Amino acid sequence: MKKGIDRMIADIEREVTYTRSMIGRDHLDPRVMQAMRTVPRDAFVPDDLKPYAFDNGPLRIGHGQTISQPYIVALMTDLLELQAEDRVLEIGTGSGYQTAILAELAQQVFSVELVPELGKTAAERLKQLEYDNIQFRIANGYEGWPEQAPFDAIIVTAAATHIPQDLVEQLKPGGKMAIPVGHPYQPQDLQLVRKNERGEPMIQNILGVAFVPLIPKAHIHEPDPNLH
Ligand code: SAH
Repeated sequence: MKKGIDRMIADIEREVTYTRSMIGRDHLDPRVMQAMRTVPRDAFVPDDLKPYAFDNGPLRIGHGQTISQPYIVALMTDLLELQAEDRVLEIGTGSGYQTAILAELAQQVFSVELVPELGKTAAERLKQLEYDNIQFRIANGYEGWPEQAPFDAIIVTAAATHIPQDLVEQLKPGGKMAIPVGHPYQPQDLQLVRKNERGEPMIQNILGVAFVPLIPKAHIHEPDPNLH
């Protein structure tokens, strides 16, 4: 496993170098890279994909969803510039891999997932790995987690068609949000939203990316209250 992680880290560092003119940095924060070394990615992928767990690519995790590419996980985490006392909101728990990376670096992680089976499996897995600073919720992530707001940082791990106003509102002044924006099967932009001290969002385009879509509320099947 050690060899696999070494290879994954080397691949991330190489891709950072290739993309440095776009991402504006030669290296990611050593604390982020340490978290990438610490979290065992093989614990987050289905059994038949374990041989590929340390490849620098996305892998399917069921329900039409994917665990994100390690380079993208590292880059998005780096963009948030997390501090040990931070409270972070994640939209799209998925496998829980990105959640674990955040939990290594921040004080408290709040993670929202739409698909109950994915959220439940991720919560069990992260408990088994002995993370005790993560709270989970099954809900539509477009709405964030108002009861726990405001957050120092927000990360969205599926592509939104626009920057959701609810999420901007739940960010602290001085806070940062990393979010892919665009339509499915079209080029998307990884955007960094910084909220200034006056509460105004400043948006920066970082990189072209390809994420699964954040499912909009209109497509979410709500149980019909009239059916018994
Ligand atoms: N960070 C995850 C990425 C999973 S893919 C990982 O690395 O494993 C994106 C996730 O977002 C999927 O699990 C999907 O079910 C979830 N998702 C999609 N639309 C959502 C919505 N509206 N609210 C919350 N989660 C959503």
